[in-house]
This record gives sequence, C-alpha cells and structure tokens, in this order.
Amino acid sequence: MNKFITLYPANWLYNAAVIGFLRVIAYGKGEEVIDKWLSDNGTVTIERGIFSESVAFYKGYNKHKGEKELPLVGKNKRYPNYLQSGEESAFEDYSKNLSNIKEEGIACGICSRNFSIDFSQFNDKTKKIAERITSNIQVIHNSLIGPSKGEFPNSFWNLNYSISICPLCAYLIIHHHIPFESAQTQNGQIFINAPSFKIMWHLNKFVEQIFSKSKGYQVRQILGISFIELAQKVAVTLGAWSIMNIEMVIKRGNEIEYYSLPYEISRLLLQKDIASLISATKEPLILEIILNGKFSHLLTLSHKILRYSITETNAFNDKYLSQLRNKDTKSLKILSNILPELYTRINSIISREVMI
Ligand SMILES: [Zn+2]
Repeated sequence: MNKFITLYPANWLYNAAVIGFLRVIAYGKGEEVIDKWLSDNGTVTIERGIFSESVAFYKGYNKHKGEKELPLVGKNKRYPNYLQSGEESAFEDYSKNLSNIKEEGIACGICSRNFSIDFSQFNDKTKKIAERITSNIQVIHNSLIGPSKGEFPNSFWNLNYSISICPLCAYLIIHHHIPFESAQTQNGQIFINAPSFKIMWHLNKFVEQIFSKSKGYQVRQILGISFIELAQKVAVTLGAWSIMNIEMVIKRGNEIEYYSLPYEISRLLLQKDIASLISATKEPLILEIILNGKFSHLLTLSHKILRYSITETNAFNDKYLSQLRNKDTKSLKILSNILPELYTRINSIISREVMI
C-alpha cells in the first residue's frame, strides 16, 4: 500500500475540512510538514501514518482554543450527536484505521473518490460509529444541514440529502469549522475557496493574520490584502482559470454567500511587482483605488502630491490628499515616486491583454 494519500480540491465544504485538518496537523507537527505535503499542482499528499496521531492533535488544538477536547459528543453546536458519550476512545480507534483506507468503494458525494474501509476489523463500538458517520451526509456532519432541510432546500451548496459520504470525508468534515471560525468578520465567518490546497492554505492563513491586526476590514479589502500577501510571500503562478475560481465563502447564521473580486482586479493584485508596490505605499487608499478599478486616480493623486509639495497648501481640503494616512513630506515623497511606476505597470498589463 502506498504510504501516502493524495487529495484533490473539491467543493468548499470539503476544502474547508481539509484545510482545517491541515491546521490541526500543523498544530501538532509544525507547519513545515504541511509545506512538504502541499503541491504546486493544487493537491495535498498526506502521510497515512498521520491518522494514528490526528485525534490527539485535534484534542490538543481544541483545548488550546479553550474548548472541550472532543466537542463532538451529544448535543453540540457544530456536529450534533456525531459521537455519543462513552465513544471517545472507539472514535480514536476509527481514525487510526483510516491509514488503511482503500480506493475501491462507491463514489463519495463529497470528495467524488471511492474511498472505503473494511469495517469487519472494528470492534462493535467502533463499528457502530463507522456505520453512523459514514451513512448519508446529515446533521451530525454539519449543524447547518439539519435546520436547512426544508427551510431553504438546495441553497446550501446544492446539497442533496441522499448524498453518500466516504469514511475519510466523514472524519475530515469535523475540521471544516476551523478556518471559518478563525476569520470572524462583521459580515460573518469567511473561508477563501480556491482550486488549489496550497493557495487555500496560504490565503486563509493571511486572512487570519489580517484579523489579528484589525477586525474592521470589509470582505473586498480582506480578499485584496490576502492576494497582495500571497503574491509577495508565496512562489506560485496562477493561471486565469485558477484566478477566476478563487471565491470567498461567507457563512452568516444559516446562510451562505459567495464573494469574489473581478478577474482583472484579482490578476493585478496577484502580480508580485504590483503587490510589492502597493504594499510599499503603506496607504490603504491605494488599495481602495485599485479595488475600485479607478487606475487613473493613481496619476491624479501623484499630480496632487507634487503640487502640494511645492505649495504646501490645501492638503486637507483635497478629496484625495485628505484620505492619505501619512501626510508628512517624507512619506509623500515616497508615494509620489511609487505612484507613476505603479500606474505604468498596471497599464502595461491591461493594455497587453487588449492587444491580444
Ligand atoms: Zn469522500
């Protein structure tokens, strides 16, 4: 049996579950392990042996977050009755056996793979858990699914209630809340979904870092800043198809919404040189201008700074200059050097597209 299992990105619920699982493993083993597993082709290749420790890491992670070690037992807010009390050690036994998973069953409705496991090797208690959690997808896998039944059919990622769930997804899914809950915005909890685990791993980590600095960002700014961080810090090349498929999933109460930036704006923010220039300005206004697609305003602002530096009057009355965070001479000089270059680079990318 191959020592590794390769997972492919699928729908956002599955993707968030895998990213949550990787966070738990990173908590237990360090981020270097995850960096080795993530591939540029978008897949993640996990070591089968990790399942012998993963529940222990899950417990440690939850404890670290000030929660119960296994917040899956009986009534609970996320995965109601996933486990019954007294089943905790049998659940550990279940997860350890995932290292023996094979691809020879029926297609899973979540990951589309054919993962299966031989239940006959389990003791009665473990078998009972396995039978419960690997039957069709249901409220135990996500408390959102239960109340949504009948109330807003199909609004939850086109969910079909007779959808089957494989033994691996049945386990991974108890991690899906992790990235969402570490990104609590005024608009709801968010997760950035993308057609690559590597991209999702980094973007969602940047989102978490953005929140540790300020909770006041709007979703478009969060997406914009996380793109700028990705472009500068991670060596990835994204094709048009990948860029078009990066979306933010916003969970508010029982509702799910999706948000994405226009392709042209995303493409600019994901260019390393442009991202570096925007960061170097240290001015939120510059990102705002770009998010609005008003690129010529960069030149207008540049001219105004030049005029202001000569006359030093009316700066606070001007609708652009008044929005700048740093109005001292040194900062304005830096800004006036960056803006024309930023505008030229943006323009060259956009016009290149038009010529093709
Ligand atoms: Zn599956």
